[in-house]
Amino acid sequence: MNRTSPPEAEAPPPPRPPERAPERPPERPERPERRFTGIAVSPGVAIGPVFSAVEPPAIVTRARIHATDIGGETSRLEAAIAQSRKQLLKLRARLAVLPEDSQAEIAPLLDAYLQMIGPSRLVRGARRRIAEALVSAETAVLDESEAIAEAILALPAAQSPGDDDRPGRRRRAEEVREIARRLLRNLTRAPFRSFAALPEGAVLVAEFLRPADAALLDPARLAGVATEEGGADGHTAVMLRALGVPTVLGVPGLSEAARPGDTIVVDGTAGTVILHPTAATLANARKLVTAFAREQQRLGKLRRLPAVTEDGEQVELQANFELPAELPLIAQAGAAGIGLLRSEFLFMNRETVPDEDAQYETYRSVVEAMAGDPVTIRVLDWGGEKDIEALQSANLVPVATDPNPALGLRGLRMLLRQEDLFETQLAAILRASAHGPVRVLLPMVTTVAEVRAARDIYERVARRLRRRNDRMAEKLPPLGIMIETPGAALSADALALESDFFAIGTNDLTMYTLAVDRADSEVADLYDPLHPAVLRLVQFATEAALRLRMPVSVCGEMAANPRLTTLLLGLGLRSFSMNAAAIPRVKQAVRDANIDDCARFARRVMEQSDAAAIHLLIHPAPPAAPAA
Ligand code: PEP
Ligand code: MG
Repeated sequence: MNRTSPPEAEAPPPPRPPERAPERPPERPERPERRFTGIAVSPGVAIGPVFSAVEPPAIVTRARIHATDIGGETSRLEAAIAQSRKQLLKLRARLAVLPEDSQAEIAPLLDAYLQMIGPSRLVRGARRRIAEALVSAETAVLDESEAIAEAILALPAAQSPGDDDRPGRRRRAEEVREIARRLLRNLTRAPFRSFAALPEGAVLVAEFLRPADAALLDPARLAGVATEEGGADGHTAVMLRALGVPTVLGVPGLSEAARPGDTIVVDGTAGTVILHPTAATLANARKLVTAFAREQQRLGKLRRLPAVTEDGEQVELQANFELPAELPLIAQAGAAGIGLLRSEFLFMNRETVPDEDAQYETYRSVVEAMAGDPVTIRVLDWGGEKDIEALQSANLVPVATDPNPALGLRGLRMLLRQEDLFETQLAAILRASAHGPVRVLLPMVTTVAEVRAARDIYERVARRLRRRNDRMAEKLPPLGIMIETPGAALSADALALESDFFAIGTNDLTMYTLAVDRADSEVADLYDPLHPAVLRLVQFATEAALRLRMPVSVCGEMAANPRLTTLLLGLGLRSFSMNAAAIPRVKQAVRDANIDDCARFARRVMEQSDAAAIHLLIHPAPPAAPAA
């Protein structure tokens, strides 16, 4: 073996890294104020002394081994895996002290890490490389993680405008690299950074911060965070938002300029960082801190207030749901139920398709958690960018080689060809309906025939459950459809006769109407839900439903934008489903609205033939400065 490696048993507890003393040196007036710009990641303003937590680099050398060393290297790898698992479980246990919504954001990431050091491709691949490529454990981890990360990044581009999957792929690749870094630190016994000495009210400044570091931060002690690396899409950003810590990431030159104890202002709303602020800057920052705290308090109070317009019209504000971990946040936001449960999460990150009992347990727990508020469960929307390995392994769907997957076998089209899969999911949902109000939602509908076929299957499953004496709601839960293709929107009058409710998915509706793949940056400026064509389709579908007094809601991103609430109310919509965090601001917009004014405003908008004119109506330009 051409490298020396310690016989790994269990790595020692990580020694405390050499943090610099956080004491504040006397402010030197001669140091001029310096302003930096970065990415606004988590809103709010923090003022405090700089605390820097330095992490010594792990020195990793690539090495080849002899066949006789395979056993030894494999044992080192297993020990590093065991050590990493222990550390992650410890981090997970620490989550209990964080606020519920922070736990909800951070726990899934730690679980993903734990999964990656379980029987995963990374672990299998690293073991294989040691045995077959005759390389050290470090080299095996490095090479395998890089191969996986590159494969993730090379996946075909997203087809759905609602969520451009590139940030998602970057995040998944970063997760793989991050768990590899942890394994490598444990293999080389390099210490991890610690935040134990972080003084109360300090602002953490670092070159970078890994997502798992966020689980070590105490949001009650930490005033703010600013780092040189990182972006708005990453997990670190998600975590810091969940912790509610004002944060700016991606600030070039900051870690070199900031010294421990320097006074710093981090404006996580504006994305600015100010070192050595002048007295005037400090006074202004303090005003911003107070204004932000007041705004948070005001939004918090809204939770208990009803979503009723100024003139007494009741509006339903529900939450979109993608992961069970979101439940606490949904409860906190004061959502009146779940308007869109995207069931894809049940099928992802696993090797086999979940059976009826497993699905039932999940739906039941959500229905029970909503304590009588309705839950709209959308059946699996596979296709487009929503690629699910378990379905491919079970040969239920074709390997995604289709050059145009958004126009291929997506959503309901696939389920109608895989009746077993469809029936299993419907049976699980129907059984969950015994525990509270449920609705079933069909994705990617384009024809009346599809809805009829789906309803036949739905009723057949219900009959079978009754024969089996399974418990379910006495009355068959409503079966509704997504209006997310121009074909569905323009046949809304016919589809309304076949469905029990509509949920308008403006994300896909915009993509399919404008023939714009939002994942394609070349045409991203053309992706515009305020294009008159999209709005006319929303109006047409809404009116078709209202004529039959059938429930209709919007569950695409448009629903989450409080600037569009007036327009949507004016078009006759009274039900919206959105990410839970958006509910308070939309509720405020509802409470400020007057239905007659909304209707007048919507008429003006719908008279426009040009998207630019609509944008001007929605975001009026500031009045021009008077001529000198
Ligand atoms: C939509 O298309 O607007 C929608 C809500 O569905 P998804 O974003 O899950 O495709
Ligand atoms: Mg959609």
